[in-house]
Amino acid sequence: MEAGISSLPGIGPTLAARAEEAGVERVLDLMWRVPRAYGDPPGRRLLGELEPGEPAAVAVEIVRSRKVRTRRRGLSVVEARVADSSGSRKATWFNQPWMAERLTPGARFLLEGRLDAKGFTVSAAEPLPGAADGGELPGEAVADAGRTSAEGPGTGASAGPVRWSSADAAMPSALTEEAPRGRHSAGGEIGPARWRRWSFEACRRAEDLPEPVPARLLTGHGFPGAAAAIREAHFPLDEERSELALRRLAWEELLLHQAVLRDRRESERSASDPAIRLDGPDRVSRAWVESLPFELTADQERAADEIAADLTGDLAEGAPMRRLLMGEVGSGKTVVALLAMLRAAESGSQAALMAPTAVLAEQHAATIGRLLADTGIRPALLTGDTPEAVRAPMLQALASGELDLIVGTHALLEDRVEFHRLALCVVDEEHRFGVRQRARLDAKAPAGSSAHILHMTATPIPRTLSLTTYGDLDVTTLRELPSGRLPIRTELAGETERGAVFERVRGELDRGRQGFVVCPLVEESEQLQARAAAAEAERLAAEELSGYEVGLIHGRMSAAQKEVAMAAFADGRIDVLVATTVIEVGIDVPNATVMVIEGAERFGLSQLHQLRGRVGRGAHGGTCFLLPGSDGIRSRRRLAELARESDGFRLAELDLEMRGEGEITGTRQHGLPRFAVASLPRDGELLESAREDLDRIGPGPQYDLLLRSATARFGSP
Ligand code: ADP
Ligand code: MG
Repeated sequence: MEAGISSLPGIGPTLAARAEEAGVERVLDLMWRVPRAYGDPPGRRLLGELEPGEPAAVAVEIVRSRKVRTRRRGLSVVEARVADSSGSRKATWFNQPWMAERLTPGARFLLEGRLDAKGFTVSAAEPLPGAADGGELPGEAVADAGRTSAEGPGTGASAGPVRWSSADAAMPSALTEEAPRGRHSAGGEIGPARWRRWSFEACRRAEDLPEPVPARLLTGHGFPGAAAAIREAHFPLDEERSELALRRLAWEELLLHQAVLRDRRESERSASDPAIRLDGPDRVSRAWVESLPFELTADQERAADEIAADLTGDLAEGAPMRRLLMGEVGSGKTVVALLAMLRAAESGSQAALMAPTAVLAEQHAATIGRLLADTGIRPALLTGDTPEAVRAPMLQALASGELDLIVGTHALLEDRVEFHRLALCVVDEEHRFGVRQRARLDAKAPAGSSAHILHMTATPIPRTLSLTTYGDLDVTTLRELPSGRLPIRTELAGETERGAVFERVRGELDRGRQGFVVCPLVEESEQLQARAAAAEAERLAAEELSGYEVGLIHGRMSAAQKEVAMAAFADGRIDVLVATTVIEVGIDVPNATVMVIEGAERFGLSQLHQLRGRVGRGAHGGTCFLLPGSDGIRSRRRLAELARESDGFRLAELDLEMRGEGEITGTRQHGLPRFAVASLPRDGELLESAREDLDRIGPGPQYDLLLRSATARFGSP
């Protein structure tokens, strides 16, 4: 299976190199390159019933053929009169001069292509057994053979009428015109017909394919064995069987991928030093929750319980927490995180919260300070800007253990920052925190122990995706928003309503509120986007927003420049911040009540939802205007969904359904695995059952085999 495809007949180094461009190097890769679709059995369509323009496959006999003389250089045309029981047609081959010799009268061919005014234009042709040797394998024989191959998992040696083991076996379609025909896609400048032929050669070796999955699981699902699944996916005998084969392959991929993720997590757990168990009395934290002016939501309660179980070592002896707390802005993550931090403090340990920017760190410190107002506990704040006069005593208090809680930026990771007994670190916005930083953080924990880590993210990711992207973390989701929150009004403006929109924006500003203008997304380059944002800021300052303070923030600015702009906005020195998507995550300015998103149709729904979450954080509510760029009915319908739906998870799911996984904010950089057959969210249910199945395979040789196949497929930890 690991052999290069040039070990197959008919594939030399040149073709192998081209196949590599299409991501196919090994025989195994070829096996997993299954057809992208299945067409009608070739025998089912007749020439006389084809609709012009529609792609079709027909089984025909050659009546006569000829090479056509053309004057255009580089163009060759071969024509043939072809016939079936419905009549005859002209068929044309462009730039396949060698076909002329093969199209001998009486020869039978399967033709793929489409009918147009001039006749049938052939994209691929495959010889069928001629009339002389026809009837070799009649329909009945096919059905019989099929039934025997469905005996159960592990068979698959002889799928149907295809003589997989015989060296001179013809292509399977040559044996039955009754079966659905797999459409192999072109790739690496290699046409479908060739891919199909190669797949056939690869399928002959499927016997040698190791079965990575325990037979008992296969039986449970009614899935075919590995070899049968590969063969039936490429060369199905009937529709039902090809569907089952594809399901098995998708399930196998998801199962193996989950195994890799689990292994990665487990090896990290066993490699890390034991965490400090925070199982002392919980008097302080309990009193604090009691003192809050609100009840925790059910989601918050559940999150708190899950985290408490991690911290007290209920789940795994001594293993540090590696948990992701996911919830939209305002869902109450900070409250949950703070509860965990207090558990550390009351157990005589320390906790840190790390934010990606100084402004965010300041905001967290302020929020936490407010939440802890009655407790007398004060969190310290450490950023790059903290003056030395404050910093020195702070670091000393941290090292001596006098200070329990600290909030800060990456400055917390600097060498001179020493903790007395760091037990927990909360990291805001996971995707900005790399593995290297995690190691530096671990070094801050007392010698011989490691810190619990709680990641927080405001980017809602549907479960199907979080299981594959964050598979090495436990995920807790806060879906329910605390009651009493004012939803953000979202208005979809027409192209001519721009003036009216800005009039309303000015109305808000005149009442002392602030706002954002988000510039259209420029996918091609951040530089172009930055330039467009700068131009727009200048234009707005001169026109629609003249007389107001207009600020600018974009991704090409340095971190320090961005901080300055954010801070000026937070302080109210700027009325309107013209921005690119850099404002998505972070800034929390309760006085900002209005947002205009230009070119709204270019953004994903999740992204728009994240953006609008920047306004209406205070008591004044908020309004988000969506200004369309190039207007299209499709995008309007999509944007209308946003105006209606306020659940970020639902929007993320919609995005995933409508635009595919890469489009969801924050997931692009996670490098989602490229599955050959499985596709999310479509196979979400299969993913769940694969996870359960994985749980059922206990440690032992079966698990080891599974893991070996999995690492061969998806790489090692
Ligand atoms: P997040 O960190 O997810 O953005 P926060 O924890 O900062 O959310 O909470 C947002 C606001 O909602 C805060 O003012 C907080 O006090 C308040 N809040 C949190 N949980 C609840 C709740 N269960 N009921 C009412 N208000 C809550
Ligand atoms: Mg928050």
